[in-house]
This record gives sequence, structure tokens and C-alpha cells, in this order.
Amino acid sequence: MNDSARPALHIPFDNSYGTLPERFYHRQSATPVKAPKLLAFNHALAADLGITTGTESEAAAVFGGNQVPDGADPLAQVYAGHQFGGFSPQLGDGRALLLGEVLDQNGQRFDIQLKGSGRTPFSRNGDGRAWLGPVLREYLLSEAFHALGVPTTRALAAVDTGERVQRETGLPGAVLTRVASSHIRVGTFQYFYARGDVEALNTLFDYTVNRHYPAAETPLDLLKAVIARQVALVVKWMSIGFIHGVMNTDNTSLSGETIDFGPAAFMDTYHPVTVYSSIDHQGRYSYDNQANIIAWNMAQFASSMVPLVENTDAAVKEFTAAVNAMPALIRSEWRRVFAQKIGITHVRDGDETLISDLLTRMAEGRADFTNTFRALSAGGTRDQFTDPARFDDWETGWRKRLQDEPEPEALMASVNPCVIPRNHRVEQMIQSAVAGDYAPFERLQKVLSRPYDTQPEAEDLTHPPLDSEVVQATFCGT
Ligand code: AMP
Ligand code: MG
Repeated sequence: MNDSARPALHIPFDNSYGTLPERFYHRQSATPVKAPKLLAFNHALAADLGITTGTESEAAAVFGGNQVPDGADPLAQVYAGHQFGGFSPQLGDGRALLLGEVLDQNGQRFDIQLKGSGRTPFSRNGDGRAWLGPVLREYLLSEAFHALGVPTTRALAAVDTGERVQRETGLPGAVLTRVASSHIRVGTFQYFYARGDVEALNTLFDYTVNRHYPAAETPLDLLKAVIARQVALVVKWMSIGFIHGVMNTDNTSLSGETIDFGPAAFMDTYHPVTVYSSIDHQGRYSYDNQANIIAWNMAQFASSMVPLVENTDAAVKEFTAAVNAMPALIRSEWRRVFAQKIGITHVRDGDETLISDLLTRMAEGRADFTNTFRALSAGGTRDQFTDPARFDDWETGWRKRLQDEPEPEALMASVNPCVIPRNHRVEQMIQSAVAGDYAPFERLQKVLSRPYDTQPEAEDLTHPPLDSEVVQATFCGT
């Protein structure tokens, strides 16, 4: 179809957040950019959301923030949050704007949000902008997560602004369009809790229940439902060797989706205390500690709902019990998911030891996380270990256990990805894009859309980094 025959860009907005009281947000438009150019557009996602694409220049104008589409109600949402354990009573969308919401074919509601769209009252010292690197990283990683089957926000569009943003050096500016089940965070509850605004807390509670957890009747119900989703999410991350890197309470979505791919990274060589984020000096958000941190974050969520319950003592008791149940929930979910990774359908006594033993040997043997698990069904596992005898020892007991499993190979191949967005590949992709070459971005996108399939033409993308390619640290990417 040529551009003149193409239907105009249309987003079927159906907005609800903007009907909440005005203290939930600041209504404003994006700051226009110099020369918006569409870098990427997710046609499949657009179709699911009933969005008609229009011409490239229309899409660039809308998703770069230069044109407010019909029906949009742009606003910056306010929230608070614990960042590395310290509480900030007011954060909010400092570089993002909610354009509005749409309903997909199943009637499920989604936020359409611009990220990198200019300053808001919540920008503090920030410029409200994003540079190309984090925009492409989030685009690629969030779509890869979707393909991996991990709950996540999605990416609809990436636009080059034609402007430079000043970081340590001048870098190309970009805007990401993010799609999320909502942007309600633990920090959204904390914001109103910190201000003692119980009326707003009640409104937020009702809104959240209605939008995400219609079966929940009480704050305790909501807490338990959110905990269940967070437990599943964090274990999913662990099962693919993922380290979120900045699990602040403002980056913990109540919908249970992965949100904010700032210093996000994947482990190559397995080690439980791996940290990549350049600012995480204490290892607060290390691979293994993610399980503890999510419980800590849920404790903050629970605290913020205490004023919603009449009998404070009873509420504190019940909420505490729900949070204290988390380690056991995480452990059992972890056991279930990691058992699948070694081909076991139903966990039995002894399986946890089998899993832990493999992980210990992997850490000692400097084994690659992704490739070791994949090789369990594809072959060549022992080659992943610096001392292959460390694997052989374990293999004997494992093979014996698998005799009772119907189809361990198929199970393992369905849960152990072949290809993940390895840090060095993501960094190389960003460097190429900054130099004007988007071929690595396109290629990674394509390959990562089928992470569980063996793709011989993409074999190079399954390799761990060479010593010279290892990414030592990742950055928040503002
Ligand atoms: P995040 O790193 O996404 O968790 O962001 C933490 C807080 O910093 C949020 O309130 C963001 O809106 C804000 N922020 C991050 N980068 C910028 C920026 N470039 N300009 C303004 N605010 C920002
Ligand atoms: Mg954030």
C-alpha cells in the first residue's frame, strides 16, 4: 500500500487513569523534538491493540511526542519509592508520559506511555530525555522477554528525535513507546501512604483491584494476589539467568510485569552473587538476592495498605504473615521451575538437592548458565565446565532420576532458551546503532523472537563473550 492510500494513524483510546483525582498525576503534553524519525515499530503489537499505523511520518510525529493523537489524555503519573532502601517521597514520571489506555481484543486494558518525552514537574534535575542506547535496549529486551514467556511491559515504537542529549558526552536522543498492563507501582501506594492521604489510598486500592485483581475484596486479598505474581516473576527471571539490577519499589509493578530495563543484564558464567549495575555496590540486587528483595518490596507494599484496614493490629499481623510466607513460596516455585529445567515434571524428595548440586558445580566450574541448561537436552553439557569431571559426577544421579520422566528432552527444550540477549551483543548492537547501523538491532530482534528454537544461522549469538567482550558493568541508562 502506498502512503496516500494508507488509513491514518488511529489509537482507539479508552482512558481511565485520567478520571482519578488530580493529585494522582500532572496533565501535560510532550515537549516536541526537532526531527522525529521512526526507528522501530511493533506492527504485531499494534494490531493486537487495534492501532492502525498510518504513515511513517505520522507515527514518528505521534510516538516522538510532536503530535497528540486524537483521544489521548497525556499525563505524568506521580509515585514515590524506596531506591536502594532509601525512601523518596516523590518520584513520578520525570521523563515519561501516559498518553492514554486502549483495550485489546480480549478487553484487557493497556497503557500507552512515551518514555523520553521531555521534562515534567517530577523531573528534578533530569532533562526528561532518553538516549538511543537505553531505548533500543528496552525495546529489544522487553520484546525478548515476551517471546521467552516472561511477564513484561512491551515496546510499540522507538523514535530518533534528531536531537542530542547530554550525558557524559553528547548522544543521539530517542523516545520509546512502552505498553504496559498499567504503570501502578508499589511506589504509587507509597506516595499516598507517605502523605497520609487515606482517601486517595482507598481510591487507588479500588482502581487497582478493578483493573488487575477483580477477585480481591480486601487489602489482604490484594497483597496475596500481588505476592503470587511477584513470586512467579522473580523465579522466572532467575530461571533465565536474569538480573534486573534496580528492583526499587518504584520499579515493582503491581501487575507483576517486568518493568524498567535499566542496568538489566543476563549472566553468562553462572555465579549466585553476580551484580552488573555500576551503582549497586552492596550487591543489594544481585542475582540470588532478588528473592529476598522482592519480599522486602512486598513488605513495603503491605505497610502502605495498613491505613486501609480499620483494625490496625489485626492488619499488621495478617500482612506480616503473608509476607513471611514468601520465602517458602519462592523456594517451592524455584524448585518447580528449576526441576523443569533439568527435565523433571513433578518434584520429589531429593530433587532440590539435585538442582542445587548442579548449580554449585556450575559456579565452581565457571559454566555458562544458558548454554549449560540448553545442553542438557541438546548435548555437550560437560564441555561447558572448566573441569568436565565435575559434571560427569552429577550426571550419573541425574540420568537415573530421569528414567521416571516421560519426555525430559522435550520439557527441557521448552524451558531452557537457546538464545538470550547477551550483554555483549546488546552493547555491540547499541554501538552499531549510534554509528548508524541498525542491522544488529534488526537481527537480534528477529532471532530473539524465537528463543527456544535452534537457529543454526544464529549460532554466533549463542556464544558467551570473549574475554575482550565481557560487559563488566551496566548503567541505569537515563
Ligand atoms: P528509573 O531509573 O527509571 O527507576 O527512574 C527513577 C526516577 O528518576 C523516576 O522518577 C524517573 O522519572 C526519574 N528519571 C530518570 N531519568 C530521568 C531523566 N533523564 N529526566 C528526568 N527524570 C528522570
Ligand atoms: Mg523506574
